[in-house]
Amino acid sequence: MPITFTPLVPINIGSIYQGPLPQRLAQCTPDTKAAIEGVARDLAGMGFGIRLSDLFRSHEQQQQSHDDFVQGKKKAFSPPPGGSLHEAGRAMDIDLSSIGVTLPKFWEIARAHGFSPIIDTPDPHRSESWHFDCHGSHHAVYEYVKAGKAGTMLAPYTQMAQSAILAIGVILDVVPAQDVAYLQAGLLRLGFDPGRIDGVQGGRTTKALQAAGADLADPVTWLSEALRAKFPGEYL
Ligand SMILES: [Zn+2]
Repeated sequence: MPITFTPLVPINIGSIYQGPLPQRLAQCTPDTKAAIEGVARDLAGMGFGIRLSDLFRSHEQQQQSHDDFVQGKKKAFSPPPGGSLHEAGRAMDIDLSSIGVTLPKFWEIARAHGFSPIIDTPDPHRSESWHFDCHGSHHAVYEYVKAGKAGTMLAPYTQMAQSAILAIGVILDVVPAQDVAYLQAGLLRLGFDPGRIDGVQGGRTTKALQAAGADLADPVTWLSEALRAKFPGEYL
C-alpha cells in the first residue's frame, strides 16, 4: 500500500497581486485551508477582508527566497529549505493593511482558528508580524523538542517545520534517510519517544515503533494510516 501523505489542496483567497493568490502559492494542507477560511469568514462578518502575500513555497521557491535574503535582495529573513512552514503549506503571510482590525484583535481571530503568530507580541512594526503558522499535529514536535527530549542543540521550530515538510512528502535535504525521518516525526506526532528527527534509525526509534504497536514489516505505511486515523482534519 502506498504512503498517505498529507495532501496540499488549492484555496481561492484574496492576495496582494491582481485577483486571487496565484495558483503555485495558493496551496495548503486541509486543516490550514479550514483555518484560513475561518479567519476570512470572521473578518467578512465584520465587513472586512484579508489579502495574502504568501502561502505555499516549493523547495525551489524557498531556496530562491533564502538566496535573495543572503544576497540582500530581500529584507525579510528567509531560512534555507527545510526550516519554514511555508514549505509544508502551513504558513501564511498576510497584508496587514487588508484586515481592517488591529493586530491584537487579529491575533484573537487567528488563534481561534488554530493559527499561531510567529512573534511574541502583536506589534505590526516588527518583522514577521505578518506571518502566521498552522502547527496542527506537528505542534507535538515543537513541545517535545522544547522540553529537551531531543537533546539541547535543536530549535523546536525547525524540527516542527521538518516534521510538517516530511508529512507532505517533500524531500528534506538535511536527513540521510527520508523514510526514517518520516517515521520519527510521525511517532512524535502520535506522542511516542523516538528522539530527534535525524533520519538515522537507532534503538530509540525502534523502541518507539514497538511502543506504538507498529507493523515492523512496513512501518511507514502503518504510520501513515495511524496518522490519518488520529488527525483526520489534516487529510481529505
Ligand atoms: Zn512567512
